[in-house]
Amino acid sequence: MARTIGFVGLGNMGGPMAANLVKAGHSVRGFDLAPASLDAARDAGIAVAASALEAVEGADAVVTMLPAGRHVIDVWTQLAGALPAGTLLIDSSTIDVESARKAHALANARGCLSVDAPVSGGTGGARAGTLTFMAGGSGDAFAAAEPLLKVMGKNVFHCGEAGAGQAAKICNNMILGISMIGVCEAFALGEKLGLSHEALYDVASVSSGQCWSLTTYCPVPGPVPTSPANTGYKPGFAAALMLKDLRLAQAAAIAAGASTPLGAEAAQIYGLFDGLGHGGEDFSAIIHMLRGQGQGQQ
Ligand code: NAD
Repeated sequence: MARTIGFVGLGNMGGPMAANLVKAGHSVRGFDLAPASLDAARDAGIAVAASALEAVEGADAVVTMLPAGRHVIDVWTQLAGALPAGTLLIDSSTIDVESARKAHALANARGCLSVDAPVSGGTGGARAGTLTFMAGGSGDAFAAAEPLLKVMGKNVFHCGEAGAGQAAKICNNMILGISMIGVCEAFALGEKLGLSHEALYDVASVSSGQCWSLTTYCPVPGPVPTSPANTGYKPGFAAALMLKDLRLAQAAAIAAGASTPLGAEAAQIYGLFDGLGHGGEDFSAIIHMLRGQGQGQQ
C-alpha cells in the first residue's frame, strides 16, 4: 500500500533511504537544514519542503534520520504537537537510549505510534536498501513500521519495548569496537613475531579468533580484498562514528550501572585516534596507532 511519508534528515544515510521509499512507490516529502541535502533529495524524486512541519503535513508515517539525541528530541517535539493521533513515527538515527525513550514518550502522549529503529550497514547499505534495522517499541508500532523498514533494509528485528533498538545497536557496536582493537593488536604482535598477515588470517579466520572485524573488515591489506585496508582506509565505517557509538555505550553503561571495562578502554583508544585527526578514516585504521604509528602511516 502506497503511503504518504514525511522524512526529516536527508544526509548521507537519510537521503538514500528516502530515495528507496520513493522507488517503492511511496509519496515522500522531505526536509533537511542543509541546502545540498535538499538538492540531492530533489534529484532523487523526493518532494522538498521548507520546514519539518511542512514535510509531515498529511503524512501517515514520519521517518527521522538525524545526527544525535538532541536533534531528534527537537524535531519530535515540534512534530508530535502537529501530527494527528495514530501517525507512525520512526527514528532511525543512532542516539542515546534515554533520548530514544523520551522521544517515544513525546509521541505516545499524542496518541502516535513510535519506533526507535537504528541501522547498521552504512551508506552502502542505505543506497542498496540492505540495512539491518533494530527496532524498539510496542507490537502495534512495530507491525505498522515493518513494511517501511523492509523497503529500506534487508533484516528487520523487533528487539523489545521503547529504546530496545538503540540498546541493541550500541551493544553490537561495542562488540565491534573491542573486537577490531583485538584483531589489530594480534596483527601488530604477529608482525613483531615474524608471522605473515596471510598465515595469521588463514589460521584465525577458521579458528576461535574468527570474527567480523577479521573476516569482513580485516585491518591489513591483502587477506580480504574488499576490506577498507585495501583502499587506503577510506570508510567504510568512519572512526568518528565508532567513537560516537562507543561513547553512547559508555553513557548507557554508567546510567544502567553495568561494568564494561573493555568498552571503556575502546572508547578511550578511539578518542585518542580521533584526537590525532584520524576520525575520517575507516575505524580499522586504528591499527596504525596500535603499532605506534600515530600519524597513520602504514
Ligand atoms: P549526516 O550528517 O550525513 O546527516 C544528518 C542530516 O541531518 C544532515 O544533512 C543535517 O543537515 C540534518 N539535520 C540536522 N538537524 C536537523 C534538523 N533539525 N532538521 C532537519 N535536518 C537536520 O549523517 P548520516 O551519516 O546520515 O547519519 C545519520 C544518523 O545515522 C546518525 O545518527 C548516525 O550515527 C547514524 N548512522 C550513520 C551511519 C553511516 O555510515 N553514516 C551508519 C549507521 C548509523
